[in-house]
Amino acid sequence: MATKAPDIGTIGGHRGFGPLIPPLSESLRPLRQQVFEKVRASGLIPRVQVAKDLGVSPASVTMLVSELIESGLIEEVSAPRDGDPGRGRPAVALGVRAQAHFVAGMKLSDREHIAVIVDFAGRLLADDVIPRRPGPMAVGDILDAVETLLQRVCAKAGLARGDLSGLGIGVPGFVDCAEGMVLWSSTLTERMVPLAAAAQARLGLPVFIDNDANLVALAELWFGAGRSLSDFAVVTIEHGVGMGFVMNHRLYRGSQRLGMELGHTKVQLDGALCRCGQRGCLEAYVADYALAREATTALNWGHKEGQSIGILLESLYEHAKAGNATARSIFRRAGRYLAVGLSNVVNLFDPALIILSGDRMRYDYLYAEETLAEMVNLSINTGRAPPPIEIHAWGDLLWAHGAAALALSSVTERILLIPKDIAAQ
Ligand SMILES: [Zn+2]
Repeated sequence: MATKAPDIGTIGGHRGFGPLIPPLSESLRPLRQQVFEKVRASGLIPRVQVAKDLGVSPASVTMLVSELIESGLIEEVSAPRDGDPGRGRPAVALGVRAQAHFVAGMKLSDREHIAVIVDFAGRLLADDVIPRRPGPMAVGDILDAVETLLQRVCAKAGLARGDLSGLGIGVPGFVDCAEGMVLWSSTLTERMVPLAAAAQARLGLPVFIDNDANLVALAELWFGAGRSLSDFAVVTIEHGVGMGFVMNHRLYRGSQRLGMELGHTKVQLDGALCRCGQRGCLEAYVADYALAREATTALNWGHKEGQSIGILLESLYEHAKAGNATARSIFRRAGRYLAVGLSNVVNLFDPALIILSGDRMRYDYLYAEETLAEMVNLSINTGRAPPPIEIHAWGDLLWAHGAAALALSSVTERILLIPKDIAAQ
């Protein structure tokens, strides 16, 4: 580790001081973008309210709204006035033009691939799912599956692939969303796969990828419980353990977009072996493969080795419900490790809410009262209440919705950030 003394001689003076904030920081987003986002978040909103909420003059809002209407992104909608049925002119409100763009969102997982199509107003038009055999796939096979699924969900929505403005894909594992690169994923046989570029070349439309847990957090931020919260965590428990964290109303990804790997934080030195190759990771104690591994040994299920993890887990759950002490202790131990992981999240980030998400949340032993009480015991004691924990067992559709939100936000950003005269060329 290199140590470096601060260069006192150059502090302040001609080089200036204070953080070097780039011109397009979050707070200085172009007003056009702010107006659009205000309309999108409101559903329907009168023009004058937009100006009021953004603290700018009605004249500048009027100009930007005309521009946004001209480019087909928003539209004027007649809304009945409250308490004044049938009299006078109807009030005119602004709303996003739903038909302006269509995007697809997809979740690739070990068990199945699922896709949705949403319009520009975020409404679900169609969804479809392809089950798959577990295990990593070659890139070519994944692209075949993505293409087939996209074709099917487009047909359901009555759209051609060319009608889509973008596709968002959520992948488990280490994903660099800015580079469109999958560094490692349990769904792929190869490492360092430029999946976004490969899918874009195959499908002929813009493709955006991200870690799947980030996309669940994005789904909660765009469509769910996180819309009004500035700081919250989503912890996903499935084949692995993931986390998406929203900080100041934005998804936090880290300097290399590889942060928030809660599943690979260490909860035991030299502990159980993890799929990432290291030992003692949280997911090596909590994820479904960890539970199945314990069950196979403790319940002497060697003869069940060929069975899928899903079936093994269902069987373990049935045994626990029927009062089998060993099965219960396996869930109980996983719950205790989960409590360690959650208390670390609380101590590091002080979130307003933690959402536990994923299909596995059906296994209520994981988040039993004892688990939550243990999380509180392990969190720093400030005398203030710990963050509430919500269980959202919404399944894969939500994840795919998050992928669609990624596509919507990427497509919108491209349109709004490119000046009109360049976009027209
Ligand atoms: Zn690991």
